[in-house]
Amino acid sequence: MRGLAYRKRTRAGAFDMGKNGASAKLPRDVSAFVRPFRVSDGAEFRLKHFATAEKGGLDKEKAQNILQANRERLNELQERLYADDRWSVLLIFQGMDAAGKDSAIEHVMHGVNPQGCDVHAFKVPTSKELDHDFLWRSTVALPERGRIGIFNRSYYEELIVVRVHPEILAKQRIPARLVTKNIWRERFEDISSFERYLARNGTLILKFFLNVSKEEQRQRFLERLDEPAKWWKFSMGDVAERGLWDKYQAAWQDAIGHTSTPHAPWHIVPADHKWFARVVISSTIVQALEKLDPQFPKVDKKASPEYDRVRKALLAEAPATKK
Ligand code: AMP
Ligand code: MG
Repeated sequence: MRGLAYRKRTRAGAFDMGKNGASAKLPRDVSAFVRPFRVSDGAEFRLKHFATAEKGGLDKEKAQNILQANRERLNELQERLYADDRWSVLLIFQGMDAAGKDSAIEHVMHGVNPQGCDVHAFKVPTSKELDHDFLWRSTVALPERGRIGIFNRSYYEELIVVRVHPEILAKQRIPARLVTKNIWRERFEDISSFERYLARNGTLILKFFLNVSKEEQRQRFLERLDEPAKWWKFSMGDVAERGLWDKYQAAWQDAIGHTSTPHAPWHIVPADHKWFARVVISSTIVQALEKLDPQFPKVDKKASPEYDRVRKALLAEAPATKK
């Protein structure tokens, strides 16, 4: 069973922080926080075999140190990605309400140069968006070469909320004869083809499903109700959707099972402990970018006499005085 295999692997690969805990040198290999959660082939995927409350052998303090080390690596990798200007990176964040999508994005990307990143939060489609095919609004939001694009929710909602609520599909005004019982299978195929197309054009795609338990969601909703500062996050609609929990889980099971591929893998992130979710997400991004290995452009040797000439000219100029 995947769940058992996963637990064994996690323990075997758990981070050894040494006797001094935080002060011990952090190993560079973070694969123990990536591999157990990655789904590159959905054929045998079972969402219920993935734990929500894993800690990967860490405590909060160790997790914080790993997160910080990952942020530093990510900062440098992002600079190289930008300078290289060939690859783009698409990070997709999905999960039930209160799974921690917003805070995961905030904490993992903290410290990365904002000029190299774009975040898009996808909401209920506007009437203009509904006048197009369902991938249109995502296509125009895709990251340029050299940049990291973050989708907070995404076209995956088209397989989830739209499936749980058929009335949303009706609003899309797709010609009736095209809406058959095959529509979800067709969307799985269309999304997989779209992602394969993007990958073939130089987009690295990493998808994260923040896997929160129903009980943890209950606790987080209660916290939002208890704290006036969190009331803005609370929506009565979220409680109604909670009532449809099983339908959402079934839709996710089917969607992840059909759209997990080597070029656009899903990561089932245990999300009951936010601090561990951040370790998994940041480790996954760092490892994938290191594999990409973007390079600073090589300086053209022929240009260096030109540089010498400009340097001499600048040195010869009288220092400019402020007016
Ligand atoms: P939040 O992320 O909490 O701000 O909520 C955004 C809302 O937009 C959620 O209720 C989503 O289900 C909804 N949403 C996002 N994408 C779509 C879509 N393609 N079709 C319908 N609803 C969507
Ligand atoms: Mg919400």
